[in-house]
Amino acid sequence: MKRISVNSECPCGSGVKYKKCCHKFHKGAKPSSALELMKSRYCAYSIGNAKYIINTTHPNNSDFSLDKKAWAESIMEFCNSTDFLSLEILEVENKIDEAFVRFKASFSNTYMIEKSRFLKVNNSWLYESGVYNMQKEK
Ligand SMILES: [Zn+2]
Repeated sequence: MKRISVNSECPCGSGVKYKKCCHKFHKGAKPSSALELMKSRYCAYSIGNAKYIINTTHPNNSDFSLDKKAWAESIMEFCNSTDFLSLEILEVENKIDEAFVRFKASFSNTYMIEKSRFLKVNNSWLYESGVYNMQKEK
């Protein structure tokens, strides 16, 4: 994991300190909405918390693997080779057990727009799938 002080501003872009924001979810608190989960997953990517990504991924997801070690390694490879510069939430659509979040994530020379789908399973939100495209920053 990349070092982040609990007193630094949370990478999810909330403007609040990490300890007052996504930290509690990374420590085991349940996000109460798909949006909170989405932001805390983005934050986990930016600090390289592969375990959190794995624990919040729905079994339907194409990355889902029972080989957690190899899966964690591939997540870490992505985290370590990517600069997560900013997150912008574009649209949120909430249903009872299903939600969609459309967001823009900016990296060093590219950005991606993704529409993520979340499902609520046993009272926990999980990331199910996403449709995204990568674009070069102008
Ligand atoms: Zn946060």
